[in-house]
Amino acid sequence: MFRRASLLLAILAGAHGCASRPATPDRAASPRILLSTTEIYAHKLPAAQTPPARLYRPLPLNEGMGLLASLPPRDIVVAGAKFEVTVDPPAADDRIVLLYDRIDGAGLRYGATVVRHRARDVPLPVFAEEARRWTEERFGKHAPIPGSFAHFTPTWREWRSLIESGGILALVPPNRSRNDFDPKLIEQAHAAGKAGVVCRAPLDRWPASFVQIEILRADVTPHAWSSFESFCETRRLLSARFDAAISTLRIGEWLRETARQVTASDSAGWVLLPGAAFGDGREWWGTRRPRLTVHEGIDLRFLSVGGERKELAAGAVVTAVADGEVVRVFKDFIGQTVVVRHRTGVEGGSIYTVYAHAAPRPDRTAPYPVKRGERIAEVAASATGAPSHLHFTVLYAPDWLPVSRLDWDTVNPNFVPVMLLDPLQGIAPGRDSYQKQER
Ligand SMILES: [Zn+2]
Repeated sequence: MFRRASLLLAILAGAHGCASRPATPDRAASPRILLSTTEIYAHKLPAAQTPPARLYRPLPLNEGMGLLASLPPRDIVVAGAKFEVTVDPPAADDRIVLLYDRIDGAGLRYGATVVRHRARDVPLPVFAEEARRWTEERFGKHAPIPGSFAHFTPTWREWRSLIESGGILALVPPNRSRNDFDPKLIEQAHAAGKAGVVCRAPLDRWPASFVQIEILRADVTPHAWSSFESFCETRRLLSARFDAAISTLRIGEWLRETARQVTASDSAGWVLLPGAAFGDGREWWGTRRPRLTVHEGIDLRFLSVGGERKELAAGAVVTAVADGEVVRVFKDFIGQTVVVRHRTGVEGGSIYTVYAHAAPRPDRTAPYPVKRGERIAEVAASATGAPSHLHFTVLYAPDWLPVSRLDWDTVNPNFVPVMLLDPLQGIAPGRDSYQKQER
């Protein structure tokens, strides 16, 4: 494993748990599988019939072990999954049977709680640990495995599960049937000059005990595989450096200064509605639809001044958080987005602050240097149904990624090597900085 590759691998997709989690997840946590109403109906349970208190899902021995060992330590909703569930206990055999109990007060939802194996009922978390040991004995621990590999590009959701489960989820090939489960994929992706993530899983030992991963770079042709552990470890090291770098931006002060500037009051603070914080999955306006992707930053719209709520109006001045350089301005769905690069001493890349839904200064053309507190834009007028507001993102991008590639398509969806950071990380809420509103 050469160091350069591990660094590149380390810069992927932030805030998804890998950095703070050991490579082998904590099995003591209680995994549950939830069945949706649709799934219950799919098993042709007459709607009029009282839903049974318990359902049974028989699993074959080996694959069942692989599946149970791979359960991430949190709930999984298996919407649309196709598997056999019975109302009556299956005849005793050498299979593993997963028992789902109806969850009180949750309608027709069931949670997997117990595993029945050889006439023995074992709590799921205990059995999951047993299954993990079983698969490790047979298929090896998390170690790179020589041999032939199948390749696939995980979806965002799958990738997230892979990271959150320490990679063990790869034991179950969720996309084995997908067309992209193919070695040619890498050649194609490189040829197309795309950036992204490719996973590989050994074909000759299935269930696979591990995946390796590669970040594809648009500008580099050789393949650079990394073990998942080294990916996680480097990410952990890098994220510690991000913590230090982000604190040099003094975002808390900027929030206070901006609130003061907008309201002419010393005690003004921002109010973040549900949906406005980093990582939130819903819009905070209108019908609160789900966002297409989780929120990449924070939305500044409402202020609290002496207990009264005020709104950030179009035309309000937007200033740079810290010294840096305005490197790019581009259109977004309300106004324009201004990208400022800060040289914060992070190896191999830079921290950027991004100000969206704004009207940039007409008298300056990027690139140009800015000082902390210097005006770079104004809040743009409302458009497309979303009220005018300032969207603020903090991210890390590697220096090899051209600034021209930084836009909401690349920052946002799957697998470009940009790491989104929580702008409020390390900043305590307070009356004169920000509050998160719960509802
Ligand atoms: Zn936003």
